[in-house]
Amino acid sequence: MAGGKRNMEEWVMDERRDAGKRTRDPQSPISNIQSPVSNFRFSQRSLADYLVCKRRFRLRYIDRLVWPAPFSQADQELEALMELGRDFHQAVHQQFVGVDPDELIAGNPDGRLATWWKAFEAHALPHLPEGECWPEAVLSVPMAASWLVARFDLLIVSPSGHATIVDWKTGRLPDTSDLAQQMQTRVYPFVLAEAGASFNHNQPIPPERITMAYWYAQAPGDFVEFPYSAEAHERNRQALQSLIDEILGLPADGFSKVADFGPCRRCNYRAYCGRDVEPAPAMELVDEEIDFLMESAMPYEIEEDA
Ligand code: SF4
Repeated sequence: MAGGKRNMEEWVMDERRDAGKRTRDPQSPISNIQSPVSNFRFSQRSLADYLVCKRRFRLRYIDRLVWPAPFSQADQELEALMELGRDFHQAVHQQFVGVDPDELIAGNPDGRLATWWKAFEAHALPHLPEGECWPEAVLSVPMAASWLVARFDLLIVSPSGHATIVDWKTGRLPDTSDLAQQMQTRVYPFVLAEAGASFNHNQPIPPERITMAYWYAQAPGDFVEFPYSAEAHERNRQALQSLIDEILGLPADGFSKVADFGPCRRCNYRAYCGRDVEPAPAMELVDEEIDFLMESAMPYEIEEDA
């Protein structure tokens, strides 16, 4: 699968095959971001970007190259959808912290926001489990001489100690099997099982008491849920540790462009990389970009006293 998009299972297989071939490279560009290396913070979005294209990871998270301004109609549509998606997330956040979102929604001239909100009220809110709600909760765990961070749109912990992580999406609903393999579906429950005690009266939340749930405004009647398990947790621990170790060990010239041009359709660095391909529809891209924006609010390096 060299150069193509790998899901987590494929990556684990590659990883096992290559086990033992790598060593930590002191010339790794991540090593040079800040000394010591342990201060770099990974997220589900940055790891997913790495699996798609190493160059993309480098440009975004190490070189921090700002994406070019929108220049095509598709880019402009993506920008508009991202703004709407951000407003939707803001409205949901306000809902859960007790600030009426009506003014925010009514003030947006794009009627899609009001449509999504109506769907949210009609389908998402009634479906949520009872429990204590933690909107936009952030957790970090030490991982492979670094850190892994997760930012949940909403965490609900029921009186019985069952935790539901909810993620709101405004883009296109992917196949459930694809969603199950996405890095977010692996990383969020993993981080919660490792570090979620502070949300559960200082008691750890066992993996089998965690559910990852997605709600898509484009398919409001479908609440997609993935129960977690102890077996999945150990698989994820091994895979995430190895993946992060691989990234930390890459030399500066190891962040190569993906061989297949397909992923470049979903990447705004395509002009920078000389990949002249038609961009994918904005509705397919918007959720990844919103995740990136939300995570960008968190630094990629942990402060010394963190
Ligand atoms: S345009 Fe293609 S090669 Fe360049 S960073 Fe994006 S995915 Fe990688």
